Amino acid sequence: MASLSDHHTVLALMAHPDDAEMSCGGTLIRLAEAGCEVHIATATPGDWGTTRETPWAISHRRVLEAAQAAESIGAAYHCLGEGDGMVVFDKPSIRKAIDLMRRVAPSLVFTHAPRDYMTDHEMASQLARAASFVYSIPNASDFPLLAKSCVPYLYYCDPMEGVDPLGNPITPTTLVDISSQLERKAQMLACHASQREWLRAHHGMDEYLESMKRHALMRGGQAGVAAAEALVQHRGHGYPKDDVLAQLFSAHTT
Ligand SMILES: [Zn+2]
Repeated sequence: MASLSDHHTVLALMAHPDDAEMSCGGTLIRLAEAGCEVHIATATPGDWGTTRETPWAISHRRVLEAAQAAESIGAAYHCLGEGDGMVVFDKPSIRKAIDLMRRVAPSLVFTHAPRDYMTDHEMASQLARAASFVYSIPNASDFPLLAKSCVPYLYYCDPMEGVDPLGNPITPTTLVDISSQLERKAQMLACHASQREWLRAHHGMDEYLESMKRHALMRGGQAGVAAAEALVQHRGHGYPKDDVLAQLFSAHTT
């Protein structure tokens, strides 16, 4: 069980509204239940996630959906204000990511897999990696340096369907048991009502919630539990290398 000293400030920095809920929502719920401060951020407001609304109308709907999903677990929602299909790894975007982290001071960061089915996800992953490494350097931002600023634990979420863009399965370092959080995760995802219709139209993916559950059950089978989320820990130079999720949750690790 987590102790008070384990109370991390957690940031999931993803590309689009619903990405965090889809990929690491169960883990975020567990961290919130353990007393962590949780933040969910997206690079875009999801301005292309529609077949019939204007970019402004759908963005308005989707940030409200994202805020509602975050609020349901006591988390805060942030948006970097980039555009769908246009997320890039450039100076202005790195600046936004650094400044966000400077204001949040995360000790634990989740983002997309470095290689994922859509480049927005890969760019958001790069932004999270770049910002996480430098945000605690005093000169990195004009925002004040908050106490507990550090190089955080960094975890990459499962790519869509657990495979890289070439279709090769990724090997998780960490499987978090979310059996008791699966229904709350589904409720978080269900906050994104606009996407249940849109994904049906664009991807032919008729089962927004069911596909999430199927994947969680598949990962659960690998961990010997009912449902799990898979993650890959970033263990490069300068980052904490011990598996904090394993320590907090007795997660299955490799
Ligand atoms: Zn996405």
